[in-house]
Amino acid sequence: MTSDMPENVPARSTVRQTRLDSYVDRYAARTKGMSASEIRALFAVASRPEVVSLAGGMPNIAGLPLDVVGNAIGDLVRDNGAVAMQYGSGQGDPKLREQICDVMSLEGIEAHPDDVVITVGSQQAVDLVTRVFCDPGDVVICEAPSYVGALGVFRAYQCEVVHVAMDDDGVQPEALEQAIAAVAAAGKKAKFFYTIPNFHNPAGVSLSLERRSRVLEICQRAGLLVLEDNPYGLLGFEGDPVRAMRADDSEGIIYLGSFSKTFAPGFRVGWALAPHAVREKLVLAQESATLCPPVFSQLAISSYLSRGRAMLPRAVTNRVAYVPGTAFFADGFGAQCMRLSYCHPTPERITEGVRRLGAVIKEELELRQTFGAVAPGHGREYDAPGPELT
Ligand code: PMP
Repeated sequence: MTSDMPENVPARSTVRQTRLDSYVDRYAARTKGMSASEIRALFAVASRPEVVSLAGGMPNIAGLPLDVVGNAIGDLVRDNGAVAMQYGSGQGDPKLREQICDVMSLEGIEAHPDDVVITVGSQQAVDLVTRVFCDPGDVVICEAPSYVGALGVFRAYQCEVVHVAMDDDGVQPEALEQAIAAVAAAGKKAKFFYTIPNFHNPAGVSLSLERRSRVLEICQRAGLLVLEDNPYGLLGFEGDPVRAMRADDSEGIIYLGSFSKTFAPGFRVGWALAPHAVREKLVLAQESATLCPPVFSQLAISSYLSRGRAMLPRAVTNRVAYVPGTAFFADGFGAQCMRLSYCHPTPERITEGVRRLGAVIKEELELRQTFGAVAPGHGREYDAPGPELT
């Protein structure tokens, strides 16, 4: 077996590695469904330089403006460390929950921060929802194929997974209807339909708009809760983000989001947006699992989002990066400026980057028209000369 330990950590003795597990009769029945993910084993190997990894879904962190992130985190510790390093709310930081509502509005969702529960990545949100809804033997309906991490959760809670076929337009509504009917005919309870409607992992397809309303209709008719797992919805290369299913049904859907793909997975911050009553249960489950989601990570993401007025994460989502002007002033000035460096990319890449940035700025201006100007105190400027471009 491959180890993911650093080189200076001595290997365990072979005797210990091969010893039979003396606890084998004492584990809870639910551990029978728990097995080492092939993905986890692969991750250890994939980091070797000689391997061209087409395996793990790891975002390209090197593409982030790490100096800006570093400044934001340094300021956080200096200015607000006593809060950032303390226990926090079980439901998650109120300001970040508001910012999450702004993020979700890009997909047409109108939500109240009270209905958002912050989790340790959206992975934990899948876990909490399953913990709250599923008894052993309950059925979870999933697309075929489905996300390996979610399947692992369903197995750990001893759920039975019923797969539903997909094609290029996502899950097939007729197959979903048949699966719901077959589960009911077998006298079993389907607790929810788990779906990844955008840029499906691992199938890569997205659920067509036409099918979204049909799938919703089918689930509403059957009284089946939908678990809409959407870590990739903002990562499209062209056009506006697709309207989330949750935008059209606030009672029958639990929506999951994550900063792992739009920012960085190491912070482990995701969220669930749930109907009000379910939200209560999720908070209780969250408190028993972790007391509270990691405050430091939440505040780091929150301050990063505020700093760039949320434009930088959107730009990175659109695959273009810049350094906000605030990084070059010690006193909060520079919000109207950005640094665009042209020394490294090729002329073709610069043209493409500027095209992408243009689209992001256009969207930002539209948002400003809708939501108004930046908060007082921000956006103040020195009367300084522009950069020398010749
Ligand atoms: N859902 C899907 C479909 C995923 O692909 C992933 C991660 N690859 C997750 C949830 C979990 O992401 P995280 O916990 O990092 O938010």
